[in-house]
Amino acid sequence: MTRALVIGLDSVEPSLVFEEWADDLPTLSALAGDGLWGRLRTTVPPITCPAWPASLTGLNPGHFGLYDLKYRVPGTYTKFGIVNSRMVGKPRAWDYLTEAGRKSIFLFVPVTYPPPRLNGILVSSFLTPSVRSDFTYPKEVKEEVLGLVGGPDGYIIDVYDYRRIPPRELYRQLKAKTEHDFKIIKHFLAKRKWDFFMAVIMSIDRAQHTLWKFFDKGHPRYEEDPELEEGLLDLHRQIDAELAEVLELIPPDTAVVVLSDHGAKRMYHRINANELLAEEGFLKLREMPDRPTGLTELDERGLIDWGGTVAYALGAYIAQVFINVRGREPKGIVEPGEEYLSVREQVADFLSSVRGPDGEKLDNRVYLREDAYRGEKLDLMPDLTIYFDNLHYGSNEAIGFGSPYSLETAKGPDDSNHGELGMFILRDPEERVRGRAEGLVIEDLCPTILDLLEVPIPPGLDGESVLRR
Ligand SMILES: [Zn+2]
Repeated sequence: MTRALVIGLDSVEPSLVFEEWADDLPTLSALAGDGLWGRLRTTVPPITCPAWPASLTGLNPGHFGLYDLKYRVPGTYTKFGIVNSRMVGKPRAWDYLTEAGRKSIFLFVPVTYPPPRLNGILVSSFLTPSVRSDFTYPKEVKEEVLGLVGGPDGYIIDVYDYRRIPPRELYRQLKAKTEHDFKIIKHFLAKRKWDFFMAVIMSIDRAQHTLWKFFDKGHPRYEEDPELEEGLLDLHRQIDAELAEVLELIPPDTAVVVLSDHGAKRMYHRINANELLAEEGFLKLREMPDRPTGLTELDERGLIDWGGTVAYALGAYIAQVFINVRGREPKGIVEPGEEYLSVREQVADFLSSVRGPDGEKLDNRVYLREDAYRGEKLDLMPDLTIYFDNLHYGSNEAIGFGSPYSLETAKGPDDSNHGELGMFILRDPEERVRGRAEGLVIEDLCPTILDLLEVPIPPGLDGESVLRR
């Protein structure tokens, strides 16, 4: 076996693809029927970054220190930057393939801007700042990419502000974005030589947040709308049909992997984690804001008393709690060691006992830092990660709602959260593995790619090749 193709479908929910919509998605169903398929446990938290970097390094995020698409600027509590490709700081699949002399093409893979050097071609993903940026490697490929879509005005980096676009308009834009991406994918598949090819489609992720409530009759904000009822399904069907065309373009001895970096699920409300921490005295405010105010703004206005604060939470979907540890945080007050463990336990107990708006018990899950992560960047990772109601409730950083629950955030409304399980399919032309797989993890991707291409798997990876199960 010398070739492999990986199609990443960001945020595709396994229960929809493998069960509810299996008959509507003939290409995916046939691939699964002929291959190995199953659910894949993703990173804590189930977010695009760290999930895709974990898949391509084969490493737990504790090795590269990223836990969201944004990162906290060292020495600050509430100043954030957007992650970039260089911050991963660990070899990814293209590095191993380049070293082994294999030619690869990577299109739209998250966290690849600025584009790294490799033996092959790379086109960066949605974190590309602008169409004027150098978002390809090598640089000259940019003109070829732009030429395929009618020039710079026709190139779509992302469907921005997808939570605020009216649903019908969003649906239209996502259809166009999917078509745009597959046009570029099919061009490079057919016109270039490659041993390994990987592309990631973001459309489903952008769609779930807004279109989920139109098909899910159990959703509290379910809306009957004949046109949008099948909107999310239709985007899956479009990808399935494009995938059929892609499979026509590849030699029959190519291994095919389709996977998602996390799933998606119905979201009821958000829990205002910092508002709760403030009410309980874990987070000290000098003054309670009279309107919902983000953490950064509160901090800039001097309203957070860090000298009296023991814990605060980041994250819009998942509560990522940092303890205000002395020596680690700018104005830390909690002593490392026993005091840290005791404070962390109190905060964990408090947040895991949060109930729903009608007093109902929630299935809250708590991940301690050392349980969720391993690696040399452990110190940067959240002390606690909380999945409210196992992700059926989101989290919220802002304070000033006057209630523990809210629907809105600074980014807009939202009807679905990410799920902790993604999907995985491998059709191996040599049929070494088939049937339903259990226990897959996102870190398995990198060693599996290397194994398929008969490139030695380096020691020390957290994932393992699915061919060796
Ligand atoms: Zn994602």
